[in-house]
Formats: sequence, structure tokens, C-alpha cells
Amino acid sequence: MKVTEHIEKAAGRTLFSFEIIPPRKGHHIKELYENIAPLMEFKPPFIDVTTSREEYVYIEKKGLLDRRITRMRPGTVGICAAIKHKFDVDTIPHVLCGGFTKEETEYLLVDCHYLGIDNVMALRGDAMSHQKYFEPTVGGHQYATQLVSQIKDLSKGVYLHNVIETDYKPDFCIGVAGYPEKHLEAPSLQSDLKRLKEKVAAGADYVVTQMFFDNQRYFDFVSAARAIGITVPIIPGIKPISVSRHLQLLPQVFKIDLPEALIKEVERCKNNTEVRALGVEWCIQQSKELLAAGAPSLHYYSMGKSDNIKAIATKVF
Ligand SMILES: Cc1cc2nc3c(=O)[nH]c(=O)nc-3n(C[C@H](O)[C@H](O)[C@H](O)COP(=O)(O)OP(=O)(O)OC[C@H]3O[C@@H](n4cnc5c(N)ncnc54)[C@H](O)[C@@H]3O)c2cc1C
Repeated sequence: MKVTEHIEKAAGRTLFSFEIIPPRKGHHIKELYENIAPLMEFKPPFIDVTTSREEYVYIEKKGLLDRRITRMRPGTVGICAAIKHKFDVDTIPHVLCGGFTKEETEYLLVDCHYLGIDNVMALRGDAMSHQKYFEPTVGGHQYATQLVSQIKDLSKGVYLHNVIETDYKPDFCIGVAGYPEKHLEAPSLQSDLKRLKEKVAAGADYVVTQMFFDNQRYFDFVSAARAIGITVPIIPGIKPISVSRHLQLLPQVFKIDLPEALIKEVERCKNNTEVRALGVEWCIQQSKELLAAGAPSLHYYSMGKSDNIKAIATKVF
């Protein structure tokens, strides 16, 4: 079922959903199942599975370093299919511009269609770790908007190199990213919102936001989006802080602000066990307020660990 259908069916009730990251290669999918299983009692209608960009590895050969490309966490579509069938839940693969040619993207989407996956999240992806700015892959897309158009074309039978007349067209529900504190490269929040509107005009059906720790950021973002005519559901993405290093790491990686009150409370914690408990408590308060405001779903960034998300969901849902 499509995310938009799940939201419609819920008729105003806030849903519980979450995102997981594929394990590093060499690990068993059992670890992932064990993390997901405790969250299934909260009946998530959909689970997102991230895709990581390729990375360089350097292999020493006769005293010289040979640079090779690898993926540390491959398998997004396979994991989506496995979870979908094991837990009978909709799964959403994240599809990236970076690292994929348009043809590779088409193959991936065809796989998703054959596997009965109804939703995809269309993202540009970040720059590779050695790059300062995102550089489009040769033969790939530069912006998520173009990827959305490619996905949308399939619903009309328009493939990259041919048009196929059939009743069995891949008609994906498409999610895209939104940034309550603006994307790091956008010159202003308003300009970023205009870009978001372009993604929706190209065919995006819903938005999931970057994490935020002050709900007012989300409320203002939704108001500003509605003011410029973005009408699709905007799902808040939230994450409980779990280690004190997050105070530096989250602003650095995601270019977000942390509220003063949260910083003070983290600084008062004696160890990371206390930080984890504080993160859960903060996220419960955030969740309750978002739920009261009628958010379509509360979408948790689980980062592969479910104990804190379960503690939050137990108090909120
Ligand atoms: C919910 C969510 C899930 C994510 N999942 C993943 C994941 O699984 N894997 C991963 O690698 N990353 C993921 N990301 C991170 C994302 O890939 C990065 O934030 C990336 O830098 C931007 O992606 P985007 O899809 O928002 O890009 P875009 O929408 O393409 O925007 C990128 C930048 O370009 C600007 N822009 C857009 N169109 C134009 C234009 N025509 N001209 C000029 N400027 C333009 C925008 O304002 C923005 O600053 C996720 C982010 C979110 C919020």
C-alpha cells in the first residue's frame, strides 16, 4: 500500500514509522530482524531502509595505493523485500542520484516493482567523503527533482529508452526530503522551500523531514510550505539523542541547531547511560506535542538500535 493511502486510512490518527540502515556487509540479516521485531507491536505501516553512497578504499599493491570503489552497506532493495515478507509491512527503499546512472536506477526501480514495493524515497545523496560538494555521477541525476521525474515517468510507461504500453505500470508513491532548518547548500530557507515545491510538482507525494529537536522548527516549516502551495503530507523525522558526542556530531553532519535547554541537560549528564535516558525523555515530549498537533506519522531515525525507540513508542502510542 502507498504511504499516502496509509495516511488517508488512518483518518487523522498519527502513525508510527521508522527508518533503519542496512548492516555492514558480512553481517547477518538476523541482527536487523532482532532490532525490528520489538517495534512491530506498534504496528508501523511502513519502514524506510536507507541507501549509503559508495566509498573509496585504498589497497596497497607493491608499495603503491590502489584506489577502489566499494559499498559498506549494500543490499537496500534485498533488505526491503526480506522485511516486507517477514513482517508483512510496507518497506521503502531510499533511491539516490549519487552513485547511480539513470539506467542503474531504472533497473533498481524495476526490481522494486517486481518485488511488490509500492513506495520509494527519492534523494540526491550527499557528496562522497573526499568531496567538498556533491558531484553528479556521470550518466546520473544532479538533483532529486530529476530523479522524481524519472520515477514518475514509469507510471506512464515511459522508460529511459522506450515507451511500454501495458496495464502493469510501476506507479510508485514517492517521498522526498524536506529541511525545517534548510538544506546546508541552500542559500535560504525560502529558496530551499521553492526547490521542495519543484520536487512536489515533479511528482513527489509526501515529504519526510530532516531531524529537528525543537518542534517549533517543524511547525514553522509546515506553515511556510503550506503558504507557498505545498499541500502533500509532511512527516516529521525525529531522533533521540543517545551519546554526548551528538552535541557536536549532529550539527556538524546535519547542519541543525540544538535547543539550549537540551544542550544544558546533556552537559549535566554524568555518562552516556544518562544521556540515552535524557534523549528518550526529550523525544517523548517532542512526540507527544507533534501527535497533539496532528502530524501524519512520527518517523523515527532508529540507527539500527530499537531499545530507545521502543521506550518512546510505549509512552506515546
Ligand atoms: C528523510 C531523509 C532521508 C535521507 N536518506 C538518505 C539516504 O538513505 N542516503 C543518503 O545518502 N542520504 C540520505 N539523506 C540525505 C540527503 O541525501 C542529503 O541531505 C542530500 O544532501 C540532499 O538530498 P535531497 O534529496 O534533499 O536533494 P535535493 O532536493 O536535490 O536538494 C539538494 C540541494 O540542491 C538545491 N536544489 C534543488 N534543486 C535545485 C536546482 N534546480 N538548482 C539549484 N539548486 C537546487 C536544494 O535547495 C538543496 O540545497 C536523507 C535525508 C532526509 C531528510
